Amino acid sequence: MAQAVMARPKAPLIRHTKLLINNEWVEPADGGSFETYNPATGESIAEVAAASAKDVDRAVKAARRAVEEGPWSTMDAADRGRLMYRLADLIEREAAELAALESYNCGKTITDSKGDLEGVVNTLRYYAGWADKVEGRTIPVRGSFLSYTLRRPVGVIGQIIPWNFPLLMLAWKWGPALACGNTIVMKPAEQTPLTALRVGALAIEAGFPPGVVNLVNGFGETTGAAIVAHADVDKIAFTGHVDTAKIIQRQAAETLKRTTFELGGKSPNVIFADCDLDEAVAGAFHAIYFHGGQCCTAGSRLFVEQSIKDEFVERLAAKAVQRKLGDPLDPATEQGPQVSQEQLDKILGYVELGEKQGAKRVVGGDRFGDRGFYVEPTIFDDVKDDMAIARDEIFGPVVSVLPFRDLDEVVPRANDTKYGLAAAVWTKNIDKAHLFAEKVKAGTVWVNCYHVVDTNTPFGGFKMSGQGRENGEAALEHYSEIKTVTVKLGSS
Ligand code: ADP
Repeated sequence: MAQAVMARPKAPLIRHTKLLINNEWVEPADGGSFETYNPATGESIAEVAAASAKDVDRAVKAARRAVEEGPWSTMDAADRGRLMYRLADLIEREAAELAALESYNCGKTITDSKGDLEGVVNTLRYYAGWADKVEGRTIPVRGSFLSYTLRRPVGVIGQIIPWNFPLLMLAWKWGPALACGNTIVMKPAEQTPLTALRVGALAIEAGFPPGVVNLVNGFGETTGAAIVAHADVDKIAFTGHVDTAKIIQRQAAETLKRTTFELGGKSPNVIFADCDLDEAVAGAFHAIYFHGGQCCTAGSRLFVEQSIKDEFVERLAAKAVQRKLGDPLDPATEQGPQVSQEQLDKILGYVELGEKQGAKRVVGGDRFGDRGFYVEPTIFDDVKDDMAIARDEIFGPVVSVLPFRDLDEVVPRANDTKYGLAAAVWTKNIDKAHLFAEKVKAGTVWVNCYHVVDTNTPFGGFKMSGQGRENGEAALEHYSEIKTVTVKLGSS
């Protein structure tokens, strides 16, 4: 394993740590705060305001006014789109600073943060274009009536996002919500609140009216729960852990809120012997180790056809030991730290469990260095389908290798999971590729590639990986209500 790079680039500037309510930076009503950390060192880098239920209520009231009273609710849809384009331009202007801050607070490499920023800008521009294209229909009905549909905003949207893609998740949620004319009360993850606050300032600069976007930092059980419980929030859009989604769905039932969920995965990545081996090894490597495995789509179940399994594992291991771990702000770094001590402990716990249950640790599995939350890229061979490391979402750089013989055997095994977010297949045989794509239960299927996610294509999960879709036109459905208007034509 390459050594951590010691020369530390300059720490990015932290400009905002308060709550953003009604276009004002405000202190929380009860003065609460929490520390946020740099995962590369474990050191606290800022104290951030924590919103209580009172602050959430203030934010919801501001969002309600904005969605009912104008100017947001009365402006032309095209002008809403122009505000969104302007925000995208400002984010592009500040991309270098935002990427550095993202890496500093989240631990992702600066290369990955820059990639995320491109995705953020693309997403906002894509949905800015939709703002004046959210259309209804005219419907032929019986009798002398004209029936047509209008698409109206759902209203005040509570958005709760995780720490692994702080800005990208913000953009995925703001984009369709704003395009459809909703207003937002968002809670960034407690681990990574800083970049959302910076984008909040850019939203003010772009000219969004007060109350359209509100940011309430804080913890899930307090701030998050207060958003979910609030009677005047119309919908919750959540990305995070499946167990949290269950709690949210139960709480949301009290007020029968709309909910959309983007949750975890244990994605099967299936390698047939007739693949392009070089590409498949590189693809399987990227599938699991991108962002240190902290992706809901991580290719953590690596099914490899028996006849090439040993060679495949050998080649994957040779790459894993070369991976350069280090300071996320150093452009040479390939893998940064995991986000927190909690995640580090969880991942190391799974490594221990994997060995205890009889899997063979080929490489990695230890903490890297003695500060920060780094984990070595890890490969387990001889894994059985029922072992914990093959069933649970680890959210770290740990891959389980599972040999198989043919398509008929691998499809039911790939589907034998509560999750269904993503899947991939590597083969040059088009029959196998399309049959697999048809039969696998997953919201996204990649053929001879991995982690290719574009803002234009729907993204979401089958089974317990989620409800609803983000990105693409599909997301608009979840942010607008259909209203049918029927007009009597002439006198009867
Ligand atoms: P992760 O394991 O990725 O941290 P979580 O589901 O715990 O996933 O967190 C994702 C987001 O959900 C975070 O913003 C977190 O604060 C929030 N959250 C956690 N628990 C709750 C809850 N009970 N109600 C609402 N939001 C919550």
